[in-house]
Amino acid sequence: MATLSTPLVDVVGGRTATALDKAFEMRTVRDLLAHYPRRMAERGELTELSSLQVDEEVTVVADVLSATVHNRPGGQPRLEVVVGDGRARLHLVFFGKKGVYANKNQLQPGSRGLFSGKVGLFNTKRQLVHPDYLLLRGDIPDELEADVYAGRLIPVYPATQAVRTWTISRAVQQALAMLDLVPDPLTAELRGRHKLLSSDTALRAMHQPDDYGHWQAARKRLAWDEALGVQLALAQRRFASSANPATPRPARSGGLLDAFDAQLPFTLTTGQREIGDLLGRELAAPHPMHRLLQGEVGSGKTIVALRAMLQAVDSGAQAALLAPTEVLAAQHARTIESLLGPLAQRGRLGGSDAATRVTLLTGSLPTAARRAALLEAASGEAGIVVGTHALIQEHVQFAELGLVVVDEQHRFGVEQRDALRSKAEQPPHVLVMTATPIPRTVAMTVFGDLETSTLSELPAGRAPITTSVVPAREKPAWLERAWSRIREEVAAGRQAYIVCPRIGVDVSDCEADMIDVVDDGETERRPPLAVVDILPMLADGPLHGLRLAPLHGRLTPEEKDRTMTEFAAGRIDVLVATTVIEVGVDVPNATVMAVLDADRFGVSQLHQLRGRIGRGGHAGLCLLVTDARADAPARERLDAVAATTDGFELARLDVEQRREGDVLGAAQSGRRRRLRLLSLLRDEDLIASARAEAVDIVAADPTLASHPLLAAQVAALVDDEQAEFLEKT
Ligand code: ADP
Ligand code: MG
Repeated sequence: MATLSTPLVDVVGGRTATALDKAFEMRTVRDLLAHYPRRMAERGELTELSSLQVDEEVTVVADVLSATVHNRPGGQPRLEVVVGDGRARLHLVFFGKKGVYANKNQLQPGSRGLFSGKVGLFNTKRQLVHPDYLLLRGDIPDELEADVYAGRLIPVYPATQAVRTWTISRAVQQALAMLDLVPDPLTAELRGRHKLLSSDTALRAMHQPDDYGHWQAARKRLAWDEALGVQLALAQRRFASSANPATPRPARSGGLLDAFDAQLPFTLTTGQREIGDLLGRELAAPHPMHRLLQGEVGSGKTIVALRAMLQAVDSGAQAALLAPTEVLAAQHARTIESLLGPLAQRGRLGGSDAATRVTLLTGSLPTAARRAALLEAASGEAGIVVGTHALIQEHVQFAELGLVVVDEQHRFGVEQRDALRSKAEQPPHVLVMTATPIPRTVAMTVFGDLETSTLSELPAGRAPITTSVVPAREKPAWLERAWSRIREEVAAGRQAYIVCPRIGVDVSDCEADMIDVVDDGETERRPPLAVVDILPMLADGPLHGLRLAPLHGRLTPEEKDRTMTEFAAGRIDVLVATTVIEVGVDVPNATVMAVLDADRFGVSQLHQLRGRIGRGGHAGLCLLVTDARADAPARERLDAVAATTDGFELARLDVEQRREGDVLGAAQSGRRRRLRLLSLLRDEDLIASARAEAVDIVAADPTLASHPLLAAQVAALVDDEQAEFLEKT
């Protein structure tokens, strides 16, 4: 008999074991059984051949329609087999004398089989060259088939050239036949509550289900195990971090925060107030705060963060604010300084007695300024230090770092956050902010080690943003109209952004993603529009006479900073920019945005971009200019962005369209990935219930001492590269 830990060689023999190890790094029965079928083919049902993609490794069920040997004089014979699913056809090609005749004998018209290979294209026909195959002989008793494919459902495994799906099937069958009852890490009570199969049943049914429903039930149970493993690991992390000591940073009445609140030019929204109170309490606690603040663009996260920072300063500590770009760091420093007014002018003329100082520290500061900034951080003179990654370089010292705020977390690695946290004697409190709405499931997994708060309401008096798709080729008049709308806004004293996908300094970087433009049936290729090309065209053409300036990543930090300052001061009318403005840029007087080649941008990215306008009291207008045809998928995406301003809905759409691998990062890449079944989209409810169970389990038994099997699952998840994944928020 065998257990999950039995080496494969003891179960399937040396040759197969070696092949499985080589192809999939499988060593134990557990590894093999965790190689789940990609799908179940129905014996009676053929694969839809028309859906096959070129270059895909496929296994299809199809009927042989014809098999013909072609002999070229002097050349090698070639066997052409056509298989079909009743509608579409697929060609199989074999070369070489020996193979040709042997295969022709096997592949009799009328027989049905599984065919495996890589889809190629020859003369517009899709074909498999030298595919491997396994014939399903119906009534003819074929020993192999009778064993492996006894059921109605045929498992189709992820396979390679060397190890085909039926080899895996056979190995799985041998393993299952020898396998002892698999112990269950979940209690019968919990299983009953969530209607889950036992581990043993699920593992067997995953490979050899009675029917489709049985297979689905098995998938559910095994996906549950994955979700629970992740959630237990995260719950343990939250538990451990909340058990760490931290210096409490309580509010002080009559301090900076009170003075600041008294001079605020607007009333806080309910959300800002409530989350502010919560942060205030967490800062005062003797354990580190570890919180994610998400909120729509323009929901006013900066004020919330600033108020928390002021509380930290009031208690005698410093606060650091990390931004993903220099433009944003500089803007934050400016905004914070102007919001604070005299409260930020410590030791300067007109500064209040209670005042502190805001210091900007970025990588590109001139040496003298940099040295001064470093000194202010180290001496504690600066209560608030704003910066980019430069802040976390080794030699930056803080006198007493109490709170770290990380803005726009999706641009930031956790290693960086951790490096910053290690700047203090005791871990500081951490607040992470993101404007990219994170779908609930992603928040629960990728960000699952943080507690989450959401600012869902926008400050009152926000004018709405209207978004329109401008199909430039189909409706040139609309494009004309777009330019005149920009002129009208500028004439009314407002400002505009024009966003391009590319800087345009060098063309070589874009050859790969040329745009096909179809015009009267003629296809023309061009690179995506670039800032450096578009700006002069606009300046000499439709936007003649307006004050235009470029902003992109190739400018020096001083140039960028100067441009942003000028734009904020209203001395530039139109900023022609790349996505450097995507994140956080806040100029309330900007009311129009035209995104050129808008189809080049992702859904969430467009939503972020348009969050730059309509931030003051004036209505915003976002124009998504595109050459994509009305029936192209890209147009559907743009229409979706135009149709809703609900960031969460759009984020969901984005996750749907990107491969989930991109969202989960490391966890989904690599051969030995542990999350095989869990889908962030489909399994929202499942993840939520697993999370709730995990919280209860960890609360009652933080080390999982009484749940050795669960502890082992978590350990397996956490070693591998998974530790890295959990870190990589
Ligand atoms: P985001 O959440 O996108 O970072 P910001 O913090 O930049 O948003 O705030 C957007 C704008 O709204 C800023 O100009 C800010 O001063 C303003 N703001 C913030 N809170 C309020 C409020 N309660 N009432 C009015 N305006 C506010
Ligand atoms: Mg912001």
